[in-house]
Amino acid sequence: MAFQSSSLSRSSSVDLRQTSAKIFGSQMISPDIEPTHLRFLGSIKRNPKALRLKATMESPAQESKDNEPKVEEVSDHFRKMRHRFLGFKKDKYLSNLEHYQRLSEVQTPKKSDILQGQFMVIACADSRVCPSSVLGFQPGEAFVIRNVANLVPPHDNGPTETNAALEFAVNTLEVENLLVVGHSCCGGIKALMSLDDDVITSSFIKSWVFVGKPAKLKTKASASNLDLDQQCRHCEKESINRSLLNLLTYPWIEERVKNRMLSIHGGYYDFIDCTFEKWTLDYKGSTLVPNGGCSIKNREFWS
Ligand SMILES: [Zn+2]
Repeated sequence: MAFQSSSLSRSSSVDLRQTSAKIFGSQMISPDIEPTHLRFLGSIKRNPKALRLKATMESPAQESKDNEPKVEEVSDHFRKMRHRFLGFKKDKYLSNLEHYQRLSEVQTPKKSDILQGQFMVIACADSRVCPSSVLGFQPGEAFVIRNVANLVPPHDNGPTETNAALEFAVNTLEVENLLVVGHSCCGGIKALMSLDDDVITSSFIKSWVFVGKPAKLKTKASASNLDLDQQCRHCEKESINRSLLNLLTYPWIEERVKNRMLSIHGGYYDFIDCTFEKWTLDYKGSTLVPNGGCSIKNREFWS
């Protein structure tokens, strides 16, 4: 039985990896998992103490006291990460010590003295679209949540980490801008567009992207003559607008938008030609009825 359950679990993990690789692109998932795992096993063979670490569940911190095994022996990735962290500490943290000391006391994007903060960003989990890298947000400037396909579910869908983060950013941090950032070649949107709506699925990814179904239906209705890739480009933007409307289904968001204390923006990062499109929801012109329209203003195209 033990063998069977271990085989089952291995096979589900392979399936999951294959599904994830399909959706996020094979470069991201498969090559890194196995080599890292094998390297770790290799280090156990070379160093029995590593096996003891695994068997006794001693924390790495306890082990490092004995100076073995060091993190560097487990993976080169962490050596590079450590180098980057120490670079950040020297070049950013210590060079702007006063600013980082203030941030250590309280997280206040609103009071950031660099960008006048005020932002909460909802972006895709895709590794190519980090808003801090693309839009230059520095620590303390933006409260960020990232999920597959940068979706905002409507209020009635119930709790998710995305609306928990929204609640904190809007009601506690009192951010003044919500920015939903989508991007080109989004694997989550492709999964949504390829999804057979009638099939019940156990995939967490497919269940999640189903949140974007209204955007998919609107895309199918207006761009059915296009091929799948072109439909996906269309849906990437349509789903951003649907998320902007979904934000208004949260009473504490709508109230603030109505009172001009909060603005809702969309953004689209095209990483093929490196352009960024930005627009703002026009509250008065937008409707929340099913399949209602999203009226926008202040559209800008950065290239
Ligand atoms: Zn994406």
